[in-house]
Amino acid sequence: MARTDVIVLGAGIVGTSAALQLAKRGLSVALVDRRDPGEETSYGNAGVIEGNTVFPAAFPSSLSRRIRVALKRSTEANYHLAFLPQVVPWLLAFRAASRPERLIETARVMRPLFARAVAEHEVLMLEAGATRYLRRDGWLKVYRSDRAFAGLAPELALAEEFGLPLLRLDLEGARALEPNLSAVVRHAVHWPHAASVSNPLAVTRAYAARFSTLGGAVLTGDARTLQRANGSWRVATAQGPLDADVAVLALGPFAPEVLDPLGIKLPLGIKRGYHRHFRPAGNAALTRPVVDPETGFCLAPMEQGIRLTTGAEFAARDAPATPVQLDRLMPAARSLFPLGEPVEATPWMGCRPCFADSRPVIGRALGHPGLWLSYGHAHWGLTLGPASGRLLAEMITGATPFCDPAPYGAERFTR
Ligand SMILES: Cc1cc2nc3c(=O)[nH]c(=O)nc-3n(C[C@H](O)[C@H](O)[C@H](O)COP(=O)(O)OP(=O)(O)OC[C@H]3O[C@@H](n4cnc5c(N)ncnc54)[C@H](O)[C@@H]3O)c2cc1C
Repeated sequence: MARTDVIVLGAGIVGTSAALQLAKRGLSVALVDRRDPGEETSYGNAGVIEGNTVFPAAFPSSLSRRIRVALKRSTEANYHLAFLPQVVPWLLAFRAASRPERLIETARVMRPLFARAVAEHEVLMLEAGATRYLRRDGWLKVYRSDRAFAGLAPELALAEEFGLPLLRLDLEGARALEPNLSAVVRHAVHWPHAASVSNPLAVTRAYAARFSTLGGAVLTGDARTLQRANGSWRVATAQGPLDADVAVLALGPFAPEVLDPLGIKLPLGIKRGYHRHFRPAGNAALTRPVVDPETGFCLAPMEQGIRLTTGAEFAARDAPATPVQLDRLMPAARSLFPLGEPVEATPWMGCRPCFADSRPVIGRALGHPGLWLSYGHAHWGLTLGPASGRLLAEMITGATPFCDPAPYGAERFTR
């Protein structure tokens, strides 16, 4: 029977980063996935490493926005009617977590992780020879109305309290950074310390390759075969069964398939999202990701083209794709930046794994010795992969964690 110190299940950005952080600390580690690293949710994000995140995505506070969503006229969100009964408890918890005082609490407890986000990526990228994918020129949030910009005041005040650099810009200032933005922009905020990548898949692959050079094993296997055997965790892989004292579950939106049968039922929600690449029209160019929060989309320059990503769709994870938000968004996206022809025939879809309190679960699985969890990174899995991998590796090896892991524990759902 093959044995290793740790089996990491799931080779998205979260699992691959965790495996790499564990291997760097001298443990023998196997990274097990049914696909090649980085090919699920971690493939299709907007590539923003947003260490400046203050408030998480929130339930719409205005009645008119809620009505637009309910009537399926919203660009920011969509839903499948048949899925509503299942998602209502999660939505109510999300709404409760979106109250102003809860948003501030979330911002404070998530700050230590976000504060390490860019630095931890930089370390791994240097070691993995992947710095060519990294851009250090921030990202730009643009606002079409005075009202939306004024509504930012509490978030910007907290950002300033946290010491996060930000620049308030008018149209001219925004165009100094991104000359092809149109005059629909009235205000913008440049977050210069955010970073972004030009190819999220290539970054996960580079971290997996670095993991291999440190002696880590990247194996094909189905995490649903995980079981207790002779006091260890065992998983079936294409190379045969593998045992370890420690198993890390980093399966993102697929985690419940393994956790539910073990009796670990945590309230994970799914926010599906889409992307499609476009060629810029004429000589237009985009240097950094630009997000339009009022309309609910991001334009991110990627090696494949300009990636237009959508907000949330509430639907069963495996239900057929319904990329209606992209259709609704196109006029607004084209009115912001001159997009040309689409690159692919059909959009990509992925599933953000989200807890209603916008925190991931990083820590032990209670009642299951040697089983650790790292999933639910929601809108910020690329951002937080290396930092949460470091935190997990420090906890598993008994080192002093770089921040207090208590706010991310699964215990918060059972108290
Ligand atoms: C449209 C969109 C835009 C986004 N933009 C950003 C952004 O700009 N910045 C940011 O930080 N985040 C962003 N995100 C969020 C980010 O992409 C996710 O949080 C992140 O990819 C989650 O990573 P993960 O490793 O947890 O999950 P995944 O990448 O889904 O990895 C899970 C892995 O588990 C494997 N797996 C599943 N089931 C099994 C099984 N039974 N056996 C073996 N293996 C299995 C899968 O194959 C997969 O490789 C965005 C997401 C979307 C959808």
